[in-house]
Amino acid sequence: MRERTLEKLEILADAAKYDVSCSSSGSKRGNAGKSIGNTTGMGICHAYTEDGRCVSLLKILLTNHCIFDCAYCVSRKSNDVKRAAFTVDEVVELTIGFYRRNYIEGLFLSSGIFKNADYTMERLVMIARKLRTEHRFNGYIHLKAIPGASEELMKAAGLYADRLSVNVEMPTKESLKLLAPDKNQEDVLTPMQYLSKEIVRQREEKRKFTHTPAFAPAGQSTQMVIGASPETDRQILHIAAHFYRSYSLKRVYYSGYIPVSTDNRLPAPGTPVPMLRENRLYQADWLLRFYGFQPQEIVPPEHPLLDMEIDPKLSWALRNMHLFPVHLQTADLEQIIRVPGIGIQSAHRIVAARRFGKISLDLLRKIGVAVERARYFIAEDPSFRKDLSDLQIRQQIISLQQSKYAPNFSPQLKLF
Ligand code: SF4
Repeated sequence: MRERTLEKLEILADAAKYDVSCSSSGSKRGNAGKSIGNTTGMGICHAYTEDGRCVSLLKILLTNHCIFDCAYCVSRKSNDVKRAAFTVDEVVELTIGFYRRNYIEGLFLSSGIFKNADYTMERLVMIARKLRTEHRFNGYIHLKAIPGASEELMKAAGLYADRLSVNVEMPTKESLKLLAPDKNQEDVLTPMQYLSKEIVRQREEKRKFTHTPAFAPAGQSTQMVIGASPETDRQILHIAAHFYRSYSLKRVYYSGYIPVSTDNRLPAPGTPVPMLRENRLYQADWLLRFYGFQPQEIVPPEHPLLDMEIDPKLSWALRNMHLFPVHLQTADLEQIIRVPGIGIQSAHRIVAARRFGKISLDLLRKIGVAVERARYFIAEDPSFRKDLSDLQIRQQIISLQQSKYAPNFSPQLKLF
């Protein structure tokens, strides 16, 4: 690889790691000379496809030049950082080169804004088009849709990319105005609305005419920065639920704010990144998408913040003890799914198993239920203690977590 391209790759892959709207960034580990290979903190990240496969993506920015000055962003124009920009051909060559060498299965391409939204978006589309039409690249492409870009460019992007993301960045209009004065929430919501309609329209057309080209077949996603502005979890989850409902988003990504600048509008440098809060939001988001919870159940007005000590499903159960114990032998799947310690797969297994006999704690363990947690909420536990208050149950479960899970307080925190 040419030296200048390598230098650009270092700058633009490093800047791209702040965009979490694709699942993960790389780790950094050198080679002391006794092992095979090494990892660098740049370039390759992982994402999950619709069918659950984990794919590696080349994750880069087209440029970190930007005409905007969003206070929370490393690429903002007032930040004194090394700047670089790839040409269209350079991104195409890098992608094809890495793909041929089997390093990656796709491309995640985001960008700062060069001159204006259309100029930048046009380049992103040119890259995707070149990859698909000239190089017959069949790998995964995730493009960042630049807010404010024209509908024609959005449409072209959807014809070549698997997924598009328009990042709202700040959860509310007010925070966006304060921290990203050059931006306008309408510029984000308009393309999101357009993409959602176009995805549905194209899908319907494809049902009638098999030759209709696919349009963003992996849907659209967005990203919110958490902790840079004062929104509560209740506000954030209501906004996310609105996105899922109104724009059929596939994912909302929550990105804990990394203090990147000294600015009195933002938490001071050195403020810890809200990793645990980010994680609780992902757990709550999971409840919204797969467990049929409404945001007001997870974060009611009297509890606008997620509990940092326990997961949101347990938190909901403890606030609703009148709904327990659940009789696993007879309850609906929806009720079983809401029992702490029972995941969706286990709930289905319970419903299937009970046709053949009695549900016992041993069977639940075999099925994969976290019985030590679930036993406070199910009638099948012979020692079920009606006399315990929600506070006592909470304490007992927390002490269990401390012995079992506390050392694992990391970004990979276990879900449920
Ligand atoms: S427009 Fe995007 S890249 Fe530019 S400063 Fe704002 S967040 Fe950063």
